Amino acid sequence: MSPQAGATFWAEDQRKIHIQLRDPYLNEWEDNPYTKGVFMATLCHEIVHACQHLTGRNGFKVPHMEEDPECSRDEYYFDPMEVEARVLADYYSEKYTSDLI
Ligand SMILES: [Zn+2]
Repeated sequence: MSPQAGATFWAEDQRKIHIQLRDPYLNEWEDNPYTKGVFMATLCHEIVHACQHLTGRNGFKVPHMEEDPECSRDEYYFDPMEVEARVLADYYSEKYTSDLI
């Protein structure tokens, strides 16, 4: 799944958070541990974004890492909130979902 496999949205009144995930089985992915693992990691990634919103956490930068201002993907990949979401998604996915896969 690509980084666009999930998204987190906040309601204007800030009272609701909507997490949207692409169902890999609707995209003809095989039912195997890899597919389940990617799906769980994507869910955890979006939950981290929800937690960032609820706690006011803004992620973190990778020290001494320069992004290419000409590359739009760099803007996404090195965004501090995305860096934190990727790091914690792997941690939460391994800790909380490995027994489910
Ligand atoms: Zn993200």
